[in-house]
Amino acid sequence: MDKKLRVGWFSFTCCEDSTILFIELLNQHYQDWLKKIDFVHARALRRETNGELQKMDVAFVEGAISSDRQEEKLKKIREKTNILIAVGSCACVGSPSNQRNFFNRENLDEIKPILDKFKYKEKVLKLSEVVKVDELIPGCPMNEEIFLRMMEKYLEIS
Ligand code: SF4
Repeated sequence: MDKKLRVGWFSFTCCEDSTILFIELLNQHYQDWLKKIDFVHARALRRETNGELQKMDVAFVEGAISSDRQEEKLKKIREKTNILIAVGSCACVGSPSNQRNFFNRENLDEIKPILDKFKYKEKVLKLSEVVKVDELIPGCPMNEEIFLRMMEKYLEIS
């Protein structure tokens, strides 16, 4: 292989269980992936040197979007990556991280001070409501087999 696949892994509003699965999968795949993949962004694997986003071939994104800041960052990720893959149910369809979207008036009034304090959006969004998403890995947490197939697919293409 001439050049390594440049991969990013990002988490927004979620429990990060797909990140844990991803780390678990490294137990079996690390030696192989090390030769073929450059993980340019992955907070679980390496310290980010500065705030600058680097160009990526594939960005895996888990979690839903719940603030303007997150929305901006996701748009920047989209600008920097050729392929953007939504990882897990929260990223693909918004749930279960978007539970407050379905609160009644009384519950919404209760949480309003928190939403205001942390500058959260009125509604929690799935990724495709903010940017173009190329692939979906469903599941809560992500379906491991689909994730591995996706990784193989883009390793073959690169
Ligand atoms: S999809 Fe499930 S496992 Fe993944 S972040 Fe959301 S709640 Fe957690």
